[in-house]
Amino acid sequence: MICPRCDSKEVEVMVESPVGNVWTVYICNDCYFSWRNTEGEEITNPEKYSKKWKLNREILDNLQVIPPIPPLKEQA
Ligand SMILES: [Zn+2]
Repeated sequence: MICPRCDSKEVEVMVESPVGNVWTVYICNDCYFSWRNTEGEEITNPEKYSKKWKLNREILDNLQVIPPIPPLKEQA
């Protein structure tokens, strides 16, 4: 299994359908993209995934940290 978004091979099963073995959700341990195997090829197939949204190792290494949420203000 290859991640459609970043082409990593570090992919594992996140969850399977609780009844009937109908779908499987995979997650990428490099970019944290997750997808269900029943989605269209534009989501599941690395070659058909939109190039606009592709990530690579260089981009992942340089992503900015999401700023923390500040504490809630005291209500008057
Ligand atoms: Zn990925």
